[in-house]
Amino acid sequence: MSKQIKFLDLNKQYLSMKSEVDTAIQDTLANSSYIGGKALDEFQIKFSEYQDAKYCIGVGNGTDALEIALESLDLPIPSEVIVPSLTFISSAEMVTRAGHKVVFCDINTETYTIDIEDLKKKINPNTKALVAVHLYGHPCEMDEILELARKHKLKVIEDCAQAHGATYKGQKVGSIGDISAFSFYPGKNLGAYGDGGAILTNDDDLAIKCKMIANHGRIGKYDHEFEGRNSRLDGFQAAILNVKLKYLDDWIKTRNDIAEVYLKELNQEQFITLPTIKDYVRHAFHLFVCRVDDRKSFMDYLEKNNIASGIHYPIALSKLEAYKYIGQQNEGFEAHVIDGLIVSIPIGDHLTNADALHVSQVIKQYPFN
Ligand SMILES: *Cc1c(COP(=O)(O)O)cnc(C)c1O
Repeated sequence: MSKQIKFLDLNKQYLSMKSEVDTAIQDTLANSSYIGGKALDEFQIKFSEYQDAKYCIGVGNGTDALEIALESLDLPIPSEVIVPSLTFISSAEMVTRAGHKVVFCDINTETYTIDIEDLKKKINPNTKALVAVHLYGHPCEMDEILELARKHKLKVIEDCAQAHGATYKGQKVGSIGDISAFSFYPGKNLGAYGDGGAILTNDDDLAIKCKMIANHGRIGKYDHEFEGRNSRLDGFQAAILNVKLKYLDDWIKTRNDIAEVYLKELNQEQFITLPTIKDYVRHAFHLFVCRVDDRKSFMDYLEKNNIASGIHYPIALSKLEAYKYIGQQNEGFEAHVIDGLIVSIPIGDHLTNADALHVSQVIKQYPFN
């Protein structure tokens, strides 16, 4: 049996910093700081500093972060909000949940982020916002997006769930648009040991609004100014994230090193389309996504060789049953073709360059085995 290459290995990562994490958990227990508390305060400051944003508001998960961020913008209900067709459902789900209308937009086949030309076509007087999803960790074309946003008075929500630490022209994602959402789902580049999320913004009013929405519409104990909801980043998760944040840059470096091995080793292979990295970004490489024509047999071949793989995502949102009512399933989107070709090969801090070399060697031998 050849060497096993996992897609994710959270246990290995935990063992590499076990004593620090265990101490953080013990401290939380000793202080009973389950909701709010020092670890949360510290994390909100450290994470906003790390991402170069003025404010960070911890919330229950990335989906809540998106929904609360959109709600805080106080757009007329319903407004049209443009969402890329290829992303996780949260990017669109939150729009409907917040009382607005989803309009899908195609993606760029090079970077898999929102396609600027199609975006222009989707803007009309009812459009009030767009969701810039930095998919797989590659930043969107923010200059073009901001220019369109200024011209048409649109709010820009960045979905940074896959892009902690990514930069666009030297600037960290998360405070380039009006407001942004991060997820700390365990498998993300910065993951908690349960659900978690955060909202980032440089805007004083939006920061207060989000904080209040996430906390029953209040600042003090019972002075509710409006009806909000309950969405919190809990004390244990914040304590764990404080430990993990220190390693995030190393992990992103490892991810980029692995990507570099793949890009170098596989660039002569005609059957596989490798991801493009624009030279003005720092890719967070949450996922390393390729395209192949015969995806099923390729994935079966990897599995036979003990190499895990995944699909992110197998059905473009605009084709999903959940969005049939929108009626965009027959648009000539590239996303509607690409969703049948994309395959994610292993990348992460659990792997070494030697592992990436091994995966590359196996892929190079396809389909002659
Ligand atoms: C993971 C993810 C989310 C949702 O985050 P949760 O914390 O799981 O709610 C949103 N958008 C994208 C692009 C994601 O990958």
